Order: sequence, then structure tokens, then C-alpha cells
Amino acid sequence: MKALTYEGPHSIRYSEMRDAVPMGDRGAVVEVSLCGICGSDLHIYGGHGFTPELGYCVGHEAVGVVAAIGHGVEQIKVGDRVMVPASVGCGTCNPCRVGMVISCERGAAGCYGLGPRLQGSQAEAVAVPFADSNLVRIDDSISDEAAVVLSDNLPTAWFGARRARIAPGDTVAVVGLGPVGLMSIASAFAMGAARVFAIDLVADRRSRAEALGAEAFDAADARAAIAESTRGRKCDVVLEAVGADATIQLSIDLAGVGGRVSVVGVNQTRAFPFDMQKVQVFNLEFTIGLCSVQYELPTLLRLVSAGKIKPEVVVSHRMQLRDGADAYAMFANRTDGVSKVVLTPN
Ligand code: NAD
Ligand code: ZN
Ligand code: ZN
Repeated sequence: MKALTYEGPHSIRYSEMRDAVPMGDRGAVVEVSLCGICGSDLHIYGGHGFTPELGYCVGHEAVGVVAAIGHGVEQIKVGDRVMVPASVGCGTCNPCRVGMVISCERGAAGCYGLGPRLQGSQAEAVAVPFADSNLVRIDDSISDEAAVVLSDNLPTAWFGARRARIAPGDTVAVVGLGPVGLMSIASAFAMGAARVFAIDLVADRRSRAEALGAEAFDAADARAAIAESTRGRKCDVVLEAVGADATIQLSIDLAGVGGRVSVVGVNQTRAFPFDMQKVQVFNLEFTIGLCSVQYELPTLLRLVSAGKIKPEVVVSHRMQLRDGADAYAMFANRTDGVSKVVLTPN
């Protein structure tokens, strides 16, 4: 089969790979109809750590049709249209049973496309372990584009917003306006935020945020503009969706007294100079984490079906899998007004 493989920093290749086969009795193979490139893939692409071995298939967002199942798969059938959540668990340990697959006790937890066990989903097909827990059947009301965004970006945004306990009437800031940040804006409004400020360096990403109802600022102006606009009170909640020291610091600075800062951006530095005194004096709450997609989906599928959140609005480019190298370069360089790229294998 054909797949995108990691060949070193800034090098993605459309390669021939061994066909995907079900991983054990409880595994399945999904023929991919559409897959996405995530900001997390850019950490791999940029060579900022999290790098799989050379030749490894990348990607962790996909929707498709089940092509094969192992003997022990009970709920998923060949021919089902399914989305493939980015997070993976065994499905039977205590955390997995309540959907917290990121904390899987069997160590099955992880993500496709990072190695060493789970090949990625930017491919014609992807092998899914423990298919009953790691595939979600979807109906025709969910488009392929929406399903790809539901496999990672939207649940991550919702998870970050949920952990910040957004209450009706809150003033929220979102730092970073890639697909995760844009979905954070939509999540904040769906939870009842009265105002949402949106911050990014890239003008066309700020325009996308404004189209969702946010008030957008360049990062350089954000502190002063938000302080002025809120008469010094600043924000009840700040959602960080970049993963850089500067944006985590900015997020802390934008929180008002008693504010809640929730980080889902994956940071490339292990340690961060955390201003404990400030956080303590202002009674801030700070939370950071990884999303268990399966846990967020029941709520999100209802919200998307009801038209309260439109995941597909983040998609800016639909390209062929064979053009994956160009797609990565465009997404990494933020050219051509790119927001999210989805890829079709055929
Ligand atoms: P993206 O790369 O498209 O978006 C990042 C945005 O941050 C860009 O628009 C960029 O211009 C902006 N940015 C960079 N530096 C900035 C600065 N100094 N000030 C303001 N804005 C700045 O990526 P994405 O797909 O939206 O993902 C965002 C982050 O979320 C990534 O770090 C990704 O790894 C992470 N992520 C986390 C989880 C999780 O479970 N926690 C899941 C998916 C993605
Ligand atoms: Zn991701
Ligand atoms: Zn488990």
C-alpha cells in the first residue's frame, strides 16, 4: 500500500509499504477515505523530538471503512464507516473502560504514527488494535472532513475547554489559532462564553477566528489590548493551543484574578520557568494534559449532529496523499492561507 513516511527532519515521502494487517484477534484494518495533518505532526516534521524511526508511517487522524477484522472483534463489522480516534487504549483496563485511554494501564495507550508499535494513518489503510474500543462508527450526517477533525483537533480543544470549567458569561482567550485553537473558540462559545479573544501571529488565522465570532489580536498586542478591553480584569479562562514557552507565559499573563489556564499545546521544552508567586498571588489554576478522544466523542457527536459546532470549518485544503510532502511544507510554512490540510489516498 501507499503511505507517507518520515525520512528525517523536513522530509516526508510518498512510499510503498507492507499492507496493513489486523493486529491480533481484536484488531482491524481500516481503508482510509480521508486523513489529516495535525500540528503534532509538525513537531515530528520539524525534528523537535517525538521522532519515529526513518521510514515509519506518520499521521493519527483518519476516517474510513473497515476492511478486515480479527476473530475477537465483536461490535465493529467489515464495511462499517468509522472514524479512528488519535488516542489508543486496550479497552479493558479500568481507565480505558471509562474512556481515559491516554492512561491505559496495559501500556497499549499511545497514538498512531509515532512508533514503535502503531504505524500512522496517512496511508491507504491503517491497522487498529482493540478495534471495539478504538473505532467509532459514524452515520452519514458526519462528513469525512468533520470526522477527521473529530478524530483529534476538536476533542483536544473541547478537553482543554472542559478542564478550564468555562461557565456561561465567561471571558475567554485562545492563544494559537491553528485547527485546535479555532475549535477551542467554537468550544468556548458552545459552553456559553460571552466573549472570546483570539491570538496568533498569522493574520489569516486571526481572520478565521473572527469569522467564528472571536475578537482577534496579534500576539505582540494581546496583553495591552485585552487589559484595555476588559478594563484591567483580563480573562476568566485562557486556552493555550501552541505549545511554546512564550505562549504558555502569555496565557498566564492574560488570566485575571482566579482565572483558569488550560494548556493542550505540546511543548517542545521539558521544563518551563513557572512563575509560582504570580500564580499563587492571583489564585490562578493551571492545567495541562493530553486528550482521550474516546471520552469526549459522545458529547461532541451530539453537538456536531445538532449543528452547534461545525468541525469542517477548519479545513482549508483537500489534497492527494501522493502530494503529502507539499502538504506538509505548506502547513509548516503557513503559506496559501492554510489552516488544515486533509488528504485523500485515492
Ligand atoms: P498549528 O501548528 O496549526 O497551530 C499552532 C498555531 O500557533 C499557529 O497558528 C501559529 O501561528 C501559532 N503560534 C505560534 N507561535 C505563536 C506565538 N508566539 N503567539 C501566538 N501564536 C503562535 O497546530 P494545531 O493542529 O492547531 O495544534 C496546536 C497544538 O496542539 C500543537 O502543539 C499540537 O501538538 C497540540 N495538540 C495537542 C493535543 C493534546 O491532546 N494535548 C492533541 C492535538 C494537538
Ligand atoms: Zn494530533
Ligand atoms: Zn487500557
